[in-house]
Amino acid sequence: MMSARVAERLSPQDLFTKYNRRYFADHLPPDCPVKVTGAKRYLHPEALGLLDLKTGITIRPGPAELMRRTLLHEMAHLAVMMAAIGRGGPTLTEREALSATRAGDPADVHAHGIDWQREMWRLALNHGETWAVQHIVDNNPSVIDVLVAAFTRLPASSLPAPTNDEEVYRRLIENRDRRDGLRAAYLSARPAIAGGHSARSAKSVGRLAAPADALR
Ligand SMILES: [Zn+2]
Repeated sequence: MMSARVAERLSPQDLFTKYNRRYFADHLPPDCPVKVTGAKRYLHPEALGLLDLKTGITIRPGPAELMRRTLLHEMAHLAVMMAAIGRGGPTLTEREALSATRAGDPADVHAHGIDWQREMWRLALNHGETWAVQHIVDNNPSVIDVLVAAFTRLPASSLPAPTNDEEVYRRLIENRDRRDGLRAAYLSARPAIAGGHSARSAKSVGRLAAPADALR
């Protein structure tokens, strides 16, 4: 597919611009730097990516699709942070701690709480990025039981049995009834980021002036 090949050749910075528009309604700061490096002073040795409000997004070099997914994972973090800053409410640390607590893991104060999960569900359910469910599950194992139960209730399929979890999630989301059920369960609490708000962009990462209502 020509379009896929063209997309793969885009630099991570250009991919950020593309997905900021396509998936985040241009609500993320357009000049957020996206750096590709595995250097230890930027990235923990085991990390694939990092979001830092001072230095932007860092992505470890690797296969194009892996880097693309890492970028979207970090953009979901950025959306959560933008919303927290835009509200002018609790500090980021407090906010993330609250998030993590609601997700049932008070120790995880730096990231994969309920707000981040909602961004990832949105990417999966509204934009077909079904791999994002694997990231949710990897960071929140309790979600697996719910998804497996939903999968076992799918109508019998002529397709061969799935060989991995990611295939299970993809089929769940491709099934309209199940997708709508998942959407209701995970996205209904607050409107999606791109759900009809007019796009307004913050001017820079250093001046994160996010529209509070747009991300929530
Ligand atoms: Zn993360």
